Amino acid sequence: MAVSAIPMEYVRVVKSATCGRSLVFTSKFAPGQCILEELPCAYTVKNDRRGSFCDFCLKKCSTLKKCSRCNYVSYCNKSCQIGDWARCHKQECKTLKKIHPRPPDLHVAQLLSQLIRKQSKSAPCTQEDEDCFPTTVDQLESNHEKLSDTKRNHFESLLCVLKQFLEEDVLAEPSSWLKMYGATLCNGFSIMDYGLYGLIDIANGVYLRASMVNHSCDPNCALVFDGRKLQVRTVKDVKEGEECTISYFTAVNYPTKERQAFLDHVHYFTCKCVKCIEEINALEPDAGLTEEILGLEKSKEEIEMQIQFALITKDWTKVLQKFETYLRSCLPAHHYLLVEVRDLAFGICCTIESWGKAAQMGQLITKPYRDHYGPYHPSLGIHLLRMGQALLNLKRFQEARKYLTEAKSVLEVTHGPQHSLMKSTSVQKLLCRFR
Ligand SMILES: [Zn+2]
Ligand SMILES: [Zn+2]
Ligand SMILES: [Zn+2]
Repeated sequence: MAVSAIPMEYVRVVKSATCGRSLVFTSKFAPGQCILEELPCAYTVKNDRRGSFCDFCLKKCSTLKKCSRCNYVSYCNKSCQIGDWARCHKQECKTLKKIHPRPPDLHVAQLLSQLIRKQSKSAPCTQEDEDCFPTTVDQLESNHEKLSDTKRNHFESLLCVLKQFLEEDVLAEPSSWLKMYGATLCNGFSIMDYGLYGLIDIANGVYLRASMVNHSCDPNCALVFDGRKLQVRTVKDVKEGEECTISYFTAVNYPTKERQAFLDHVHYFTCKCVKCIEEINALEPDAGLTEEILGLEKSKEEIEMQIQFALITKDWTKVLQKFETYLRSCLPAHHYLLVEVRDLAFGICCTIESWGKAAQMGQLITKPYRDHYGPYHPSLGIHLLRMGQALLNLKRFQEARKYLTEAKSVLEVTHGPQHSLMKSTSVQKLLCRFR
């Protein structure tokens, strides 16, 4: 059994003949218990986030300094630069400087090369018993034999860059690289950043222990990231021996069939959680897409395009006009399409400080959020916090107080008082305002 610095008393690995490995709680816990904390074994900042987030600590920073050699990665300070040099940049800097033009999925090749290099240095796994946490990447599920042609082609397209990254110190054969690629697809995590500006996915990472947590559409735990550190925290009361689960699917209120198709396509399993079984049994015969839904889908695409345009021109008039359609709709408020666009609209209105419209949009999604997530979820906590901020700016103090009080109790469970979000001055100012 591998020796680990992380205490393991909250969960243990069990292996079943039918479901593979899973984690179960070693005791009963209340919501807000951190049951697993881990740093990634490999990670890279997504290409479109590079320059806003430090390539080592993954914190948002407005004064990042670029590596003067490759002019590609950037860091908040010297110590992050030194940390990243030792972690991977020593092997990557030369190649990153050489590659031109840089392909849009360069970060995927980078992540893969980090994993391959790491694997080539780790001793082969000799563990007989599988009732323990994985210690190397090749112990993760890869499902590489099930990869679709599209994914295989993507892998092939990465090979050229991958070889450049691995030129000097590669020990493994390209055939084993496909297995690694498969492992990153089904075990990769989107590392999220949380702030008053909302939730942003900043990086891709692979976490060995957290990969053991199975999925449920009605999970008892949630993930939260603080920089590159991942925590799995309980969001419900759980019993000893109960399986620890998180949701691999982030969208709110997606139709059951679509959600199942996603899990099948990306993670290669058919979800049989209580929620799926209940919902599938209750499914009405397919009525097809109504005109209103088709119209909303089309206008959602238009909005997304107009947002890209407005980001450049800084003229939001057209986008705000478009949002009006989404304030009024005959569809029920919890319809996934309405929630999705209203959430997008809420975010934009907060960013451009159009607080009145933000509060209107935000109020419309609060109930669907609560119904979908239950009392505790990181996204609900952030939503309530931002609603509180919008209402304060509108001087609607009583309502703001309600939202902020609830935000505080949610975030204390989902993020915990030690999370850097909870310690940031702007959030402290909001949460402590009505104390
Ligand atoms: Zn940093
Ligand atoms: Zn460099
Ligand atoms: Zn399910």
